[in-house]
Formats: sequence, C-alpha cells, structure tokens
Amino acid sequence: MKLYLFGITILLACSCSGQVNDDNVYNGRALPENICRVVKDGATERPFTGEFWNHKEEGVYICVACDNPLFTSDHKYASGSGWPSYYDVLNDGNVLKKDDYNLGMRRIEIQCSSCKAHLGHLFNDGPKPTGMRYCVNSASLKFKAKKK
Ligand SMILES: [Zn+2]
Repeated sequence: MKLYLFGITILLACSCSGQVNDDNVYNGRALPENICRVVKDGATERPFTGEFWNHKEEGVYICVACDNPLFTSDHKYASGSGWPSYYDVLNDGNVLKKDDYNLGMRRIEIQCSSCKAHLGHLFNDGPKPTGMRYCVNSASLKFKAKKK
C-alpha cells in the first residue's frame, strides 16, 4: 500500500512539472502561450488583433524572446494587412531570411538572428525605397519608446 501511494505521488509530480515548465518557454524565457506559439512554432496571429499593427509611436521594436533590436518606427508603414509592416530592418545582421515552403509555395520566413524566434514573412510588395514588406507578428515584438 505504501509503495502504491509513493508511485502515485511520483506520477503526479512528473505530469505537473512537464506541463508548467517546458511548453511556454523559449530561449529560457517564459512567455504567454499565444506568443510562444508564434516564436517557437511559427504560428501566425490573426490580423488586426496584435498589439502593434496600428502602433504609431517613435522607437525601436525588439525581439520578445531576447531583446535583439529588429525594426524601427522610421521604417514602419500602414500596409493595410493587419500586421506590423516595415519596409526595412534596423540592422541587416539582426534578421535572418529563410525559404519557407509550408503553404505549398515559396515564401521567405524572417527570424531573429540571435535566438531564431519566428517573426513573420518578407514580401516584395512594399513601398519605396526598398520595395520590401517585412510582415511581422506583434507577438514576436516588444517596443522600446524613443527617449524624449
Ligand atoms: Zn530573438
């Protein structure tokens, strides 16, 4: 009987720790589940629902999982897509571009160069001068306002 109870205790302890600790951690940082699904699994948030698609303050957008500076308000524009859109990156080395064939066509996925968090996709229908649209999930970003 004693051994039986001991076994149950172990079982409960294991299932609890697996559930709480591992699922919503990325790059050693505990994140809300919806954010984790984007940066870790490459999910896409629904358009017009994120924190930054219509955000107009001046400052820098950094990676939610490692604080790597990725985009600036200087390059942000209203694309009408419902996701934060930029026509350029803050620094070329900070954003990785990778081929993505998940939807049965070739798209370019963009990732944080430092922690490999999924950011969104890159399209070639942006405004001048680059003609590019970095289409990013709000969930992948945090905002640092410019000091006045
Ligand atoms: Zn990162």
